[in-house]
Amino acid sequence: MIGPSKPCSYMFLSEVYILARRFYGGIHPDDGKRLASGSAIETLPAPGQVIIPMSMHIGAECSPTVAPGDRVLLGQVIGESSAFVSAPIHATVSGTVAAVEPRLHPNGRKVMSVVIDNDGQDTLHESVVSHTAEVEADPSALLDIVKNAGIVGMGGAAFPTHVKISSGLGKVDTMIVNAAECEPYITADHRVLLENPEEVLSGIHLLRRLLGLEKAYLAVEANKQDAIKLLSSLIAPGSGIEIRVLKTRYPQGAEKQLIQTVTGRQVPPGGLPADVGCIVFNDFSCWSVNRAVKTGLPAIERVVTVSGPSISKPSNFRCRVGTPISCLIEAAGGFSGSADKLLMGGPMMGNAVYSDEVPVIKGTNAVTVLPEAMNLSREEPGCIRCGRCVAACPMHLQPLYLYAYSVKGEARELDRLHVTDCIECGCCAYACPGRLQLVQAIKNAKVLVKNKK
Ligand code: SF4
Ligand code: SF4
Repeated sequence: MIGPSKPCSYMFLSEVYILARRFYGGIHPDDGKRLASGSAIETLPAPGQVIIPMSMHIGAECSPTVAPGDRVLLGQVIGESSAFVSAPIHATVSGTVAAVEPRLHPNGRKVMSVVIDNDGQDTLHESVVSHTAEVEADPSALLDIVKNAGIVGMGGAAFPTHVKISSGLGKVDTMIVNAAECEPYITADHRVLLENPEEVLSGIHLLRRLLGLEKAYLAVEANKQDAIKLLSSLIAPGSGIEIRVLKTRYPQGAEKQLIQTVTGRQVPPGGLPADVGCIVFNDFSCWSVNRAVKTGLPAIERVVTVSGPSISKPSNFRCRVGTPISCLIEAAGGFSGSADKLLMGGPMMGNAVYSDEVPVIKGTNAVTVLPEAMNLSREEPGCIRCGRCVAACPMHLQPLYLYAYSVKGEARELDRLHVTDCIECGCCAYACPGRLQLVQAIKNAKVLVKNKK
């Protein structure tokens, strides 16, 4: 780690440390962030109808608590589960339930969803109330607020935040706020840091207090200098928050790689951050926690980047969960050129979707549109044994063998090679000159191994 005593371009910051320690592997793709990083967040009007899936998190799917014809209010619970690992789901507009039926989900399957006709009134449910300073000072009350607000990991993983906190209580000594945003094209977190820094910092303080930790690290990639400078001016020395500037390298924001870069600790294979005393929150999750505490509003909104070479006006939007992505694409000027691939998420880890009627869900941070020229798959891919996939893999795996055993369906070999440690970052596929569909093969391999156990 290079401390602030060493002269460098970031020396205007007394509380900032530049981290030279880096994880193994990784790649340097063109980040494409210039397309949308200068676009201020625009608030998108709520659509006439929202589609709210009952599964927007890791864990048990929620059961709808409303029926067609019911009147619902903004912030009202419309789906819940008694399972520990789950998160309640709320109405993101006020209006009338038009349907409770399976609808297309960003994961490509049909998932039970509550469809609400928006009355345009945004009438708040009685449960939406701001909380007092006494509540803010009470960790168990804070935990209840986070749980009842349905907040999940907003970096894409969507793990329920209250579960993460509960399982980390008393075990963790280090809190890291992940604002690395290493995935190409995505600038939503960057814009939130620039436009709502106080709310993010307040959320960090609340989570730090909840966990009883003295210090939190706010980790930002070095390609966000304006945000680093702004945050540094707002963080008082000794306030308990320290900025850590990360080298720009994909997948710097992956949880295990982030922990290694910030603390030097390595999460063991199959392990969790809490196993090495760490807990990681996305910066938008911190923003959401602050909002739930200060206003009582649950997780009903997202900031989403709509970008890529085939979008007319790359933009960042604040929109309601349940908004069809067609509304976002239209607000961004529609497709341009030879739009070929529509992704929920970024080009490295995003899911291709075949319809623009899928809704924004809690974990949606981007919609990316790529042109035909960027479709790099080829008809006859082949491995030339160059080893680039091995050099690129941040999890020390051997993607070429994972591919080969996946094609052959050899679950035992795949298990021996730790296929389940793959974080599906796509570095191997990006590096592969043979254009093998490595990630898809590895995803299939994980299913093979799971079914075998
Ligand atoms: S997708 Fe999996 S195998 Fe490929 S580089 Fe990432 S972690 Fe390694
Ligand atoms: S990068 Fe591609 S071509 Fe090279 S060894 Fe790996 S799978 Fe084979």
